[in-house]
Amino acid sequence: MTSVPHLLTDIPGPRSRELHAQREAAVASGYAVTLPVFVARADTSTVEDVDGNTLIDFASGIAVTSIGASNPRLRANVAAQLERFTHTCFMVTEYEGFVRVAEWLNEHAPGECDKRTALFSTGAEAVENAVKIARHYTGRAGVLVIDEAYHGRSMLTMAMTAKEDPYKSGFGPFPADVVRGPNANPLRGRPVDETLAQIQAIVAERGADYFAAIVVEPIQGEGGFVVPATGFLPGLRRLADEHGILLVVDEIQTGLGRTGQLFASEHEGIAGDLTLTAKALGGGLPLSAVTGRAEVVDAVHVGGLGGTYAGNPLACAAALAVFEVLEEPGLLAGVGDIEATIRAHLEPLRTEIDALADVRGRGAMMAVEFADAGSLAPRPDLAQRISAACHAEGVLTLTCGTHGNVIRLLPPLVIEKPVLEAGLEILVRCIRTIAAEEAAA
Ligand code: PMP
Repeated sequence: MTSVPHLLTDIPGPRSRELHAQREAAVASGYAVTLPVFVARADTSTVEDVDGNTLIDFASGIAVTSIGASNPRLRANVAAQLERFTHTCFMVTEYEGFVRVAEWLNEHAPGECDKRTALFSTGAEAVENAVKIARHYTGRAGVLVIDEAYHGRSMLTMAMTAKEDPYKSGFGPFPADVVRGPNANPLRGRPVDETLAQIQAIVAERGADYFAAIVVEPIQGEGGFVVPATGFLPGLRRLADEHGILLVVDEIQTGLGRTGQLFASEHEGIAGDLTLTAKALGGGLPLSAVTGRAEVVDAVHVGGLGGTYAGNPLACAAALAVFEVLEEPGLLAGVGDIEATIRAHLEPLRTEIDALADVRGRGAMMAVEFADAGSLAPRPDLAQRISAACHAEGVLTLTCGTHGNVIRLLPPLVIEKPVLEAGLEILVRCIRTIAAEEAAA
């Protein structure tokens, strides 16, 4: 491999700028873009743009292309399926791939119980359907979600998502019966037992028969890669059990190896009644799933679940390749090595740079938060400037967090160590440079 990143032009280059201008004339302006570069092809851990620049991919299409954006096994599986047929609609005639994906998820999702799986296309659809299932099973309406949560952009999932701008502003009114409780954010929140007591009070206030589900991300994604304080997730599990509420664990961003376990729930030894997956599940083809206790999932009447594209055959073929890669010996241990490498590069900066408030995450889901020392006032300006500097040097980073002050790293799980290190060296250099400029200003 030639050394990466490999830049031939400014980023974005002239051809990307030309295409971007065409985009502006044709595409709805409501889409934001992290880096206005047009991609020609992608490899294990790099993307090549239309100007011939090769960028290091620390985004994985927002935690989707965990096995690489052009994995040979995935391509072969999908190509073979493409030769046979592209679509039947599982509600019209059946096909085997759907069943095999369901079987794998039933076997591997957290929880030692008989399970069933329903497949859909997008993450938001999985969340919506989990709520449908939970309401049907419990006969209750309420959905308890957590501060700073992100669950999608459909009407119900916008209601469940916390952040107003850009996700919700001007799009309401939203469906009712969504209630928000506090998060056990170790940097900014209260202690776990106080947080759980607050949630307990919210449940008590609404009455025992109100909540159908508590929906929680085991590590918040868009909300800022917040790993909840130890004990929070088991506490929610207990609280749900006490009140006959279902626990729905949204593993859409964290699931399928991202954190070094197949499911992030496993780090805290919990199992949701329903576990949601999407993103990495289809390896880039749209596929999502609700997996959970058989008696819960099967409470829904025949015809109550579905969708024209739900569990599309090409996406199922892709998922079966994703599963094979995840089961390769050493893959998950390698994700632990990614975390160690990221920490080794970033943690020393904590003592060096005052505004670097936190390095956190698990596995290949890591983040750096920027905030003023002491007051912890968020510093989105720093995160944005550092991220932009990385882009200019050929490293594709994303930001996140309610205040946009967090840089998140989501490299493919199969990233080669030299590529990971090259990207991290650039990130570290950019952090140092921008922080020094700030200090001098
Ligand atoms: N839940 C979580 C935790 C997510 O991170 C996302 C996507 N960022 C979603 C739900 C929504 O998924 P989708 O964009 O596929 O609808």
